[in-house]
Amino acid sequence: MTDTIHLLPDHIANQIAAGEVIQRPASAVKELLENAVDAGATEIKLIFSDAGKALVQVIDNGKGMSEGDARMAFERHATSKISNIEDLFRIRTMGFRGEALASIAAVARVEMKTRKADEETGIYIEIENSLIRKKEAVASPPGTNIAMKNLFFSVPARRNFLKSPATETRHIIEELFRVALAFPGIFFSANNNGQEIFHLEKGTLKQRIVQLMGDQVNARLVTVQENTNYLNIYGFVGKPDTAKRTRGDQYFFVNNRYIRSPYLNHAVMNAYQQMIPADCYPLYVLFIELDPAQIDINVHPTKQEIKFEDEKILYAFVNAAVKHALAQFSITPTLDFDLDPNIQGLDAISKPFTDEKRAAAASGSLYKTFTQKNQAHFIETDKKSDLRHWRDFYESYGPGKTEKPEFEITGTVETAPSFAEGFIVNLPENQSFHQLLRIYILVTTESGFLLVHQQRAHERILYERYQTVNKSRPMTVQSSLFPVTINLSVQDAVLLEDISDDLREFGFLIEPFGKNAFIIQGTPADTISGNEKAVVENLLEQFKHYSSDLKFPKREKLIRSLAWQQAVKSGTQLSEKEMQALISDLFQCSQPNIAPNGRPALINISEEWLEKLFR
Ligand code: ADP
Ligand code: MG
Repeated sequence: MTDTIHLLPDHIANQIAAGEVIQRPASAVKELLENAVDAGATEIKLIFSDAGKALVQVIDNGKGMSEGDARMAFERHATSKISNIEDLFRIRTMGFRGEALASIAAVARVEMKTRKADEETGIYIEIENSLIRKKEAVASPPGTNIAMKNLFFSVPARRNFLKSPATETRHIIEELFRVALAFPGIFFSANNNGQEIFHLEKGTLKQRIVQLMGDQVNARLVTVQENTNYLNIYGFVGKPDTAKRTRGDQYFFVNNRYIRSPYLNHAVMNAYQQMIPADCYPLYVLFIELDPAQIDINVHPTKQEIKFEDEKILYAFVNAAVKHALAQFSITPTLDFDLDPNIQGLDAISKPFTDEKRAAAASGSLYKTFTQKNQAHFIETDKKSDLRHWRDFYESYGPGKTEKPEFEITGTVETAPSFAEGFIVNLPENQSFHQLLRIYILVTTESGFLLVHQQRAHERILYERYQTVNKSRPMTVQSSLFPVTINLSVQDAVLLEDISDDLREFGFLIEPFGKNAFIIQGTPADTISGNEKAVVENLLEQFKHYSSDLKFPKREKLIRSLAWQQAVKSGTQLSEKEMQALISDLFQCSQPNIAPNGRPALINISEEWLEKLFR
């Protein structure tokens, strides 16, 4: 019998291991940018093309590498950042696992030029399939210039796994955002397919946020800053009116490392309770600093997840700090706020913040704990006694405790009325319509009545109408008399460009107009003029809202977004005529009873059920 077990050749083992660290072009962007930061660079340039598949290049003016280091850097577990296990608990650098360059070299062609400031010449290295193909002395400015070409050329299966160029580009930009936010003192630029898309001068954190997210956030940032002996938190949260329907601009950094933490996210969201609707997301950029010994960053290959020594303390701290910050300023309406009407209607926006409310928020014992210096040391030293405060606080605000359903169904009504498919309604002649609460339309039938949810019903109608739209049957465009320009963030611009052809069929004539700007030449025939910009912005927001939903193809997401966007909203007064048109359109639909999102669009209340109620 022959043996069947053998060791994998290095380059295959490396390729397999690389899969953990380098999943897509954006992973390489992250690693290369972080290496440049770790090298002490003050200027970092990112260049990429073909969504990073053809090229990802990072040029820094950091400390560079010697000839020996340049060779070693591509070995697995080769790092200059730790040498023993204790170092792991003192980490201040972004990298430490010594895997990134080895992984990149296993799945792409790498060319690198590097020079230490105190050496006369630099070194050039070319690597393919983990093997050094070329190594020679070259003239080079101090620092490192590393280019990764043809990612996954040797692993076609993985290359095929990548998403559309727009999606991959979005991921790349997202990584750039994270590093650029964490290091506002470093200059960054980014160049995509030969065009400069970012040019970020050094500045303060606030300036960096505005550079990245746009001027409109400038006046809407609230400072968060709490220092204790145990940990510090600083950064900015958006006023409630920055809340969007998509989870976009939310960033947590722990010791300057971007992390994903649903738990801490909840702590922030909880602080906004009753200020924003349940399905909206406020902007935040928050930095937590604590002793590296209190956290374990080594639980995830890309280090985006972290284990904290005491999560609950952190939760309470973050929650209290954000509440405190929000209580510090008056929430007043901002005139140019044109997002969601639901947000504008909220008390927190429409009514001024009273001194009373502010005082109540600020008088909680926790705020005092946080705001008085040196009050948090007890957390470490005497857990039993004072920690109770934290616990109580956590218990009353912790996850799962505070989330209320959007509306509650009381009584026994939920079982009886049917909204099952396929029922037949006979509407009496001379039907009259009544609107209830500006949400429902009451329609009498020959055997009871229907409660129609106006917004969902309209979404259903539009949804089915949009499904019939195609290239040869486009919707009517109404040309804008005064075409409006619209400036977008880079991500949104990429997105809009990606869907603009489809949008044309739905009556939106939108053309590129310089860098990240578009001009709206026409909108669907029924858009109220003067509203075009808000319509397009809302549409994009909604589209992003569905973007994380992988089960729908792009077209479906677009149709759903459009239906949501264009539908008459709850809270809108309808005339008799409008109600009549809506009901008649609804019953032309193939599925009048459910909204595109699967929720009931109407409820049929039958005579028998009414009888039972009165028994
Ligand atoms: P890690 O960052 O975890 O140490 P990497 O594989 O990313 O592992 O890098 C390996 C080593 O190569 C680093 O520890 C560092 O010494 C060196 N290195 C990588 N990139 C640069 C750079 N841009 N400038 C200087 N040194 C670098
Ligand atoms: Mg690294």
